[in-house]
Amino acid sequence: MKSKEFNPFEMAQAQFDRVAELLNLDESTRELLRNPLREYHFSIPVKMDDGSTKIFRGFRVQHNDARGPSKGGIRFHPQETVDTVRALAMWMTWKCAVVNIPLGGGKGGVICDPHHLSMKEQEQICRGWVRQMAKNVGPVNDVPAPDVMTNAQHMLWMLDEYESITGGKYPGFITGKPVGMGGSLGRTEATGYGVIFTLREALKEMNIKPEETLASVQGFGNVAQYAIELYTQLGGKVIAVASWDEQDKCSYTFRKMDGINRDELLGITDKFGGIDKTKAKELGYEILEGDAWIEQDVDILIPAALENQINADNVNKISKRVKIIAEGANGPTTIEADKVIQERNIFVIPDFLANAGGVTCSYFEQVQSNMNYYWEKEEVLAKLDTKMTNAYLSVSELARNKKLYMRDAAYVIAINRVAQACKDRGWV
Ligand code: GLU
Repeated sequence: MKSKEFNPFEMAQAQFDRVAELLNLDESTRELLRNPLREYHFSIPVKMDDGSTKIFRGFRVQHNDARGPSKGGIRFHPQETVDTVRALAMWMTWKCAVVNIPLGGGKGGVICDPHHLSMKEQEQICRGWVRQMAKNVGPVNDVPAPDVMTNAQHMLWMLDEYESITGGKYPGFITGKPVGMGGSLGRTEATGYGVIFTLREALKEMNIKPEETLASVQGFGNVAQYAIELYTQLGGKVIAVASWDEQDKCSYTFRKMDGINRDELLGITDKFGGIDKTKAKELGYEILEGDAWIEQDVDILIPAALENQINADNVNKISKRVKIIAEGANGPTTIEADKVIQERNIFVIPDFLANAGGVTCSYFEQVQSNMNYYWEKEEVLAKLDTKMTNAYLSVSELARNKKLYMRDAAYVIAINRVAQACKDRGWV
C-alpha cells in the first residue's frame, strides 16, 4: 500500500464530507463549511543580515467565524503550503467548537525556516506579516497565536506592530504573548497538558492505570515536552521520543527502555525541539531511525509533531500492544491509516479534541486581557482541565451511545455546533 501525494486540505475535506453525509447536512451548509470563508496570500520583503532583500510568502485563512472571531496560530515552516494552512484553519473551527469556546477557525503561515534566520530577520517577518494583515485581523475579527516554530517573542513583535499601526493598546489582538506582557500563565503548558487530560480520561474509561502504561512520542517541541511532563507525573513511562535533526535533515528516535528523562533531554535540546544526537548517546539513549517511534511495544502513541506522520506506509508497523493514540499534532493520521486504526480497534483521541488545550487557554488569555486582570496558574490549569475533560466526555459518550469512531463523534459535535450557528445567523 503506497501513500499518494499528501494534501492536508483534501484530507480535512474528506473527513468533513464523511460526517456531513452522516448528519445529512444540506447542500449549502456543506458547501459553506468545506471551504474557507476568506483567505489572504501576500509577500513579505525582508532585509537580510547579508544586505540582500528576500521575499517571503505569507498566508492567512479564515475558515469560519459564525461562532466568534477566527482563531488560530501562525506557522513558520519551509514546506508550508496554502493547502496546509486551509486544512489547519478548518481544523481550528472544529477545535473551538468541540470545546465549546466562542471562537471560529483561522490559521496563518509563512514559508520560511527559522533554523536559518537571525532574530532580526524573524522580527521583520513578524512585523511584515502584520503590516499585510492589519486591516483583516484584530481582537474582534481574527486573533492569531503561536504554532509550529513560532513562540511568545514572535507574538509580542506582532502585537507591537499592530499597536503601532492602530495607535492603541490591543492585547486581545493576539494570544500566546509572554507572561507579564498580556500572556496567561499556563499557556505554554496548555496544549501538552490538554492532551494528557484527555488521555487520563480515556485511561479511566478503559480501566487502565497510567502507572501501568508505556508511551512513545513523536516530536519534542512545545506540545510533546509538556505532554511528557504531565504523563510522567501521572505515573506513565515514555520510552521513546522522535525529534527532527536539522543537520541531517531527517528525524531520529531516542529510546531508553527504563524511561526517558524529559529534563535531561531538555538540557540537550535546541529551541526547535531538536535533540543533540552525540550528547544523547553519551547519556545512554539508543538512537534509532525516525519512524521507530511508531513501532515501539507500548500502550500509547502520542504523535506530537506535524501532519501526515501515521500513513499508509507505516501504519502497519504499530505494535499489537497499542491501545490508544492521542493526537497532539494537527492532522497526524491520514485517511488511509485512519481506516486501518479503526479496523484494529485502537482508541483514538482525535487531534482537534486532544490538542484543543492550546486554544482553550488562548481563550482564557483573551478573557484575562480584556479584564486586565490575570489569574494564578493553578486557576488557569484547573479551568483548562474542566473544559478539556467535559469536551472529552461529551465526545466519548456520543461515540459509545451511537457506536461512532471517536474522530467521527468529535466531528458530529463540532460540525453540528458550527452548522447551527451559520443557520441561526441566517447564512444558510
Ligand atoms: N496553534 C494552536 C493550535 O493549533 C493554538 C491556536 C490558538 O491558540 O489560537 O491549536
